[in-house]
Amino acid sequence: MTDIIVNKVDKPGVLPTDDKLGFGKIFTDHMFVMDYETGKGWHSPRIIPYGEFAFVPATIVFHYGQAIFEGMKAFRAANNQIAVFRTKQYLNRFNRSAGHLCIPPIDVEEVQAGLFKLLELEKDWIPGTLGTSLYIRPFIISTDGYIGVKVASTYKLFIILSPVGAYYDNGFNPVSIKVEDKYVRATKGGLGQAKTPANYAMSLSAQAEAHKEGFDQVLWLDAVHRKYVEEVGTMNIFFKINGEIITPELSGSILGGITRHTVLELAQNWGLKATERQISIEEVYEAHAKGELEEVFGTGTAAVISPVGELSWKGQKIKINNNQTGEFSKKLFDFVTGVQYGSVPDEFNWMDKVNN
Ligand SMILES: *Cc1c(COP(=O)(O)O)cnc(C)c1O
Repeated sequence: MTDIIVNKVDKPGVLPTDDKLGFGKIFTDHMFVMDYETGKGWHSPRIIPYGEFAFVPATIVFHYGQAIFEGMKAFRAANNQIAVFRTKQYLNRFNRSAGHLCIPPIDVEEVQAGLFKLLELEKDWIPGTLGTSLYIRPFIISTDGYIGVKVASTYKLFIILSPVGAYYDNGFNPVSIKVEDKYVRATKGGLGQAKTPANYAMSLSAQAEAHKEGFDQVLWLDAVHRKYVEEVGTMNIFFKINGEIITPELSGSILGGITRHTVLELAQNWGLKATERQISIEEVYEAHAKGELEEVFGTGTAAVISPVGELSWKGQKIKINNNQTGEFSKKLFDFVTGVQYGSVPDEFNWMDKVNN
C-alpha cells in the first residue's frame, strides 16, 4: 500500500450545533482522493482540503454518466469511541457497482485505510447526540476529457464527509407511499443493482409527481409486469404478514441494501421466518384485506428503519397498523441504532473502530 499524503487546511472549521446539521448540507475540512489510469492502476492516495475542483467541459462523466457512489456512516459512542458500521460490506458493494459500470475495482483494504485516516483527522466533526452521525460519501467518476461513448481510461475516487442530524426529530414518523404504476426505475439486465446516479435520474419525474400528490416516496413495481414489488428507490422494502418477514428477492433490478441484509440476519437470528421472494402488490393488498398485513417498513443507511403508514395503488389507499410504528420495526431500529451508538453489545461485529 502506498503512503497517503496529507495536505491540511490552515484553519479547520467547526462542527455546527445539532439543530443546524440537517442532511448533506455541511462538509468537513478534508477529503480523500485517488486517481486511476489504465496501465498504472489506482494511485496517489491523498487527503486534501475539501473544495472545488476543475474539469474540462468535455469530461466524459458529465455526458455519459459513468459514475458510482456509496453511502455509509461513522458514529461517536458515549465513550467517544468512533466506529464505522459494516465498512467492508459497503466497500465490497462499491466494487460490485464498479463492475456493472465498467469501472476498475478498488483495493478495499487501501480505500478503508484512506477512509480511516480521513476519519481520524476529522474526528471533531463527528457529532455524538443519539441520531446524529457522520455520513460518508465515496464516489468514482470517469475523467477522460473526450466526447464519445466509451469506457473511460482515467477515473477519480473521492470520499467526502458530512455531519448529519437526527433523521427522526420527534419519534418515528410513518411515511405515506405511492405505488408507482406509470414510471419504472430499473429492469433486469440494467443498472438497478448498482449504486449509480442513473437510477436516481430515472426516479425524478415519479418522485416529483408523487410529492405534488402529497406522498413522501414512491414504491417501484417491476418494469415488465408492473406487478411485483421492487424497492422504494433510496430504501429496500419489507412486509410483515401473519408473523412472516418478507422482502423482494434480489432479482437483478433491486439494490442489495446493507440495511436490508442486516434486517434479514437479525430476523433470522431472532427466530422469525424471514423470506426473500417475489411478492406482488395484489398479495400485499389481499393480506391487508384479510387483516394479516401487520407492518411495512423501508430500510436504508440514512433512516435505518422507516415505517410505512399508508400505501396508495391506483388510487386505492390502505392504512398500515393504523398509521403507527409496528413493534418489529421499533425493535429493529432500537437494536441497530443501539449497536451503532454503543449502548447495545456489538455481538455481530458490525462496528469497525477508528480510534482506540
Ligand atoms: C443505497 C440504496 C438503498 C439502501 O441501501 P443501504 O445499503 O441499506 O443504505 C436502497 N435502494 C437504492 C436504490 C439505493 O441506492
